[in-house]
Amino acid sequence: MPSFRELQTESPRRPTWAEIDLNQLAANFKQVRQRVGTTARIMAVVKANAYGHGAVECARRFAAEGADWFGVALPEEAIQLRNAGITQPVLCLAGFWPGQAAACIQHRLTPVIYRVDMLDAVNQAAMEAGVIADVHVKVDTGMGRLGVRFDQLSDFVGALERFPNVRVDGLMTHLAAADDANCKPLTLDQMHRFDEAVSVFREHGYRPTHLHLANSAGIYGHRESWGNMVRPGGVLYGLWRDVLPPSISNPQLSPVMSLYTRIIMLKWVPSGETIGYGCTFEASRRSLIATLPIGYHDGYMRGFSNRAHVIVRGVYAPVVGRVSMDLTLIDVTDVPGVQLHDEVTLLGWDRRNPDLRIRAEDLARISGTLSYEVTCGVGDRVPRIYV
Ligand SMILES: *Cc1c(COP(=O)(O)O)cnc(C)c1O
Repeated sequence: MPSFRELQTESPRRPTWAEIDLNQLAANFKQVRQRVGTTARIMAVVKANAYGHGAVECARRFAAEGADWFGVALPEEAIQLRNAGITQPVLCLAGFWPGQAAACIQHRLTPVIYRVDMLDAVNQAAMEAGVIADVHVKVDTGMGRLGVRFDQLSDFVGALERFPNVRVDGLMTHLAAADDANCKPLTLDQMHRFDEAVSVFREHGYRPTHLHLANSAGIYGHRESWGNMVRPGGVLYGLWRDVLPPSISNPQLSPVMSLYTRIIMLKWVPSGETIGYGCTFEASRRSLIATLPIGYHDGYMRGFSNRAHVIVRGVYAPVVGRVSMDLTLIDVTDVPGVQLHDEVTLLGWDRRNPDLRIRAEDLARISGTLSYEVTCGVGDRVPRIYV
């Protein structure tokens, strides 16, 4: 029996797919490399299935382009990379869950540590395996999320000596608002507190090799936040318009993901009739309505109802009525020559008219979210085709 994944990527299948442009992914990586030069190593962040783009395929390409490290959220994600043959160091940004310390060691993963009991767990597992395990310690300098608070570091550092099989290979923090000029005082505080944290570790005799703070916004907005490693995520996927400081106007980064489908039904609807759940759209004229086999389970959000546009035959066409779980309606009355099975661009460049495009940032604004949520949200039912 073929798996669901195989059924999806083989034809015949539903004509809804995401195209991932790996050359553009590589070009974005090169831009970041050019920016940081030899000052900093690059940890390519491929968590959440590489922001929806496909973790294994993207990591392979980043590795070929010279990525030094990979960043994922969970050990489960890191193990997926190891099983695919990725040999670079992999940092598990959200740490690990009870019982996973041994798996981290077995797969040579580097966990982020933010509680003393995590040190204990890694130390135990490392002793049992007869190794010294590397970890990166996360300091909370103002995000208030994961990390040992900057003002409570000495207790934590004091505890370290009880765990001889743990080696602090890195020290890190995460910037909360490096894209926002209004929050510059916080960003400066965060960088200053991180410097202090490094000093505390040094005073106790620890010399972590890797010191890292910068996400995409830090890389582009704050040269002083680079440390000796940077952690780009969004910019690698060409998502930057709602991520980088507005002062960055042309970073030469382009989107990597496009989303396409085809028309599966075309019908005339008389003026005055409503279409879709909840009667949210009423035809103000006799209208040609097309049905598309994509819905909110596929990441085409319900918030796009009556608000987003798609591109058909090189023309923009509006989404009409409510987006439902598996289906979406568009008004193609003004699309000359529209036919059943026509290709429809939902995100990305239109093949017929490359002057037209729909950005994840545009769709995100429509439903009050961030471009990341748009690409991350493209569902499992949508096969990724790598070009
Ligand atoms: C997701 C993440 C990043 C990457 O952030 P971008 O804004 O996408 O560049 C970097 N560091 C940590 C800790 C993260 O969780």
